[in-house]
Amino acid sequence: MGNPLYDALVAPLAGRDSAVLIDAAGQEISGTALHGMAMAMAATLAGLGLRPGDRLAVQVEKTPQAMALYLGALAAGVVFLPLNTAYTAEEVDYFVADAGAALLVGDPAKAGPLRERAARHGAGFQTLDAAGQGSLAELAAQAGTAVPAQRGADDLAAILYTSGTTGRSKGAMLSQSNLLSNAEVLVRAWRFGPQDVLLHALPIFHTHGLFVASNVSLLSGGAMIFLPGFKLDQVIAWLPRATAMMGVPTFYTRLLDDPRFTRDLVGHMRLFTSGSAPLLAETHRRFQDRTGHRILERYGMTETNMTTSNPYDGERRPGTVGPPLPGVELKITGEDGAPVPQGQPGMIEVRGPNVFLGYWRMPEKTREELREDGFFITGDIGTVDGDGYVSIVGRQKDVVITGGFNVYPKEIELILDEQPGVLESAVIGVPHPDFGEAVVALLVPEPGAAPDPAAIRAALSGRLAGFKQPKHVAVLDALPRNTMGKVQKNLLRRDFAGLFA
Ligand code: ATP
Ligand code: MG
Repeated sequence: MGNPLYDALVAPLAGRDSAVLIDAAGQEISGTALHGMAMAMAATLAGLGLRPGDRLAVQVEKTPQAMALYLGALAAGVVFLPLNTAYTAEEVDYFVADAGAALLVGDPAKAGPLRERAARHGAGFQTLDAAGQGSLAELAAQAGTAVPAQRGADDLAAILYTSGTTGRSKGAMLSQSNLLSNAEVLVRAWRFGPQDVLLHALPIFHTHGLFVASNVSLLSGGAMIFLPGFKLDQVIAWLPRATAMMGVPTFYTRLLDDPRFTRDLVGHMRLFTSGSAPLLAETHRRFQDRTGHRILERYGMTETNMTTSNPYDGERRPGTVGPPLPGVELKITGEDGAPVPQGQPGMIEVRGPNVFLGYWRMPEKTREELREDGFFITGDIGTVDGDGYVSIVGRQKDVVITGGFNVYPKEIELILDEQPGVLESAVIGVPHPDFGEAVVALLVPEPGAAPDPAAIRAALSGRLAGFKQPKHVAVLDALPRNTMGKVQKNLLRRDFAGLFA
């Protein structure tokens, strides 16, 4: 039976003398060394009593040891459950209990509360810190090696919790073949190979950094510059060694704001990709003007892995996420579930080997969102143009319904962003006694600018139907964003909920 992910991602590391991970200090870890570290982690997990199918909850900083723990879990057949390092012990408690984790690995700095929460739910507790040290590392140093567990293509490899942008995080059950099939498709689509050095500054508790970036690099036999997070100085210092970089849009806006980020610095690079949040067409154009590179934007989510991508060769269209990836079926549906006419906005639904098995212990939610025929109802509203390129209009939960009309925030945001002095914007709906919801526009000024709300309202009045025009325009210093650069509209809705009450 084998173990498909182990066979594809971990086994090939053995005997590879070249660097697989390069850390921020320039220390290189060879394939052979990483393989040894992963197998020691696998032996440690088995020694702690974890059996194939058991859940391992992990809330640790990004280090080579953390990567070895992920690979060790794959080898041991243990279900990997990474958690955002920003979660408090109280939040971690929910995930440990919900997943029925057998072991929690956490930061020694939070050992007291984490150990107590783990014990409450019958889970063990070990530590691993930002230097790769801790009780788990000590056990691994003594552990020797392991024999990979037998796993099938449909066996669970990971439970990855969604980002919680629209509500409580849900545990997406991802099988061996969900992850492997997507990594294979992306390696081919983006032409990754053994010569590639991926600049990896994303967190590894999220699908983007763990499954898109790490799995693609491992599968292709390349190396990763493995930075603990996105620090501008570090990224600029390491770009000359990289051939490719995967980022969220805020990485690119921050690079563009720095005069050291020049055409010369990245002239040798092969590829920049963007995802997890919308990349403004303007950022795409500024990036091209500055560097000559066209950022390749793709779209996916925890539940489905990656579903669409702009092409490697061919036109990378700003403001779109490209056509569906090979093997992915995508359709746009209306409220009745039937496809809408081409070009009209509707619900994005996707089907393919990349689509998850369902939500962990949420059979009802699974039935609501995963159709019997295999199509997953993404919750994102989008359009498809005549060439098959998908554009995301927004999330269904962010659509404003005012006086019975649907308003797609993106349409208004695009116009607001063009206004003089406006850096970016967010359009939300807030409760209104007459209209149900009212459209509210929030603007962030460009540095030093002071956009005039009245002038902006006047500019919109000629361009948008009355019901789409904001009933209130406010200026903010910044939009609230999570670690993946996603705008947290739920927080904005909360802050402005009383506006018309
Ligand atoms: P939750 O499901 O818990 O509310 P979430 O949907 O933000 O959180 P993720 O799975 O991390 O959790 O994010 C997937 C979402 O990110 C997609 O559904 C989509 O809304 C957004 N997204 C991803 N890539 C892009 C992109 N290129 N452009 C626009 N939006 C994107
Ligand atoms: Mg989601």
